[in-house]
Amino acid sequence: MIQSPLLRVLAAQAMLVTLASAAEEKPAAPQSPAKPATSAPVAAAAAAPKTTAAAAPASPAAPAVPKATPTGYTDTPFIPGQKWRVHDDARPRPAVVTPAESFSHGAGAPADAVVLFNGTDLSKWRISGDSDGPAPWKVENGYMEVVPKSGAIRSKDEFGDFQLHLEFATPEVVTGNSQGRGNSGVIIYGRYEIQVLDSFENPTYADGQAGAIYGQYPPLRNAAKAPGRWQTYDIIFETPRWEKGELVKRGNVTVIHNGVVLHHKQEIIGAVAHKNVPKYTPHDPHGPITLQDHGNPMRFRNIWIRPIGGYDETSSAK
Ligand code: MG
Repeated sequence: MIQSPLLRVLAAQAMLVTLASAAEEKPAAPQSPAKPATSAPVAAAAAAPKTTAAAAPASPAAPAVPKATPTGYTDTPFIPGQKWRVHDDARPRPAVVTPAESFSHGAGAPADAVVLFNGTDLSKWRISGDSDGPAPWKVENGYMEVVPKSGAIRSKDEFGDFQLHLEFATPEVVTGNSQGRGNSGVIIYGRYEIQVLDSFENPTYADGQAGAIYGQYPPLRNAAKAPGRWQTYDIIFETPRWEKGELVKRGNVTVIHNGVVLHHKQEIIGAVAHKNVPKYTPHDPHGPITLQDHGNPMRFRNIWIRPIGGYDETSSAK
């Protein structure tokens, strides 16, 4: 309980500034460098009630007051076909399931897989966007690490329907919260984001948690491991298809996180969007894999991908 009226005023002002600065986490648009979190402390200060505090002698700033629910939104559009808004603050957060120590960690690549990263170099990657420049992330100790603000990277090869394995670790030293903590993403074709985030005891909006189909579906469960621990994604994706400009099949995705199913052949609503409705635009039935730079030094290792193929296909070796 704060007894002094002056301290109450200072605490209230600090709360307003904290709320405003925490409110605008900024998921980077696909294929664009991450931007720092936007904050609005000036606006918040202007909006703060005028009090006698301004005339008070200089004193140490009041301690920051953590935001009780550093999460979602109440004014975004509704997700088509759902009762929830995009990044809805009221959407239930998925139940936590503690995964086993390992699942597909260290999984070897089948013979028909393309090994996108084996721990030694980024020769299978380039910087995302229009440039053909090399991937600007660093490689050490068998993993690649995001160099914050250097830009997203994308695979040189393109893939149709696929099975993807990758491993990631969020920074062991925790900084930031909500969407600002351990954020990256597996952005299929640069369009459909499977969120990568540190979701270990880190509240954020449900459709932005680790493994979410970002802005569309939360993961069925929260299977996140602690910061710094290696985690696995096994992702199966079927590409959307158009005929004569008409969407005849939505894309769908299955995601297994540390051995826990997060989505099971879930139809994708459209391309990833922040605070907006996902929509499809026609594209080829193949594309690259993009890994997002959201300003956090995320690590990745053991990445391979293979085509799913179809029934009744015979081996080309026969
Ligand atoms: Mg992300």
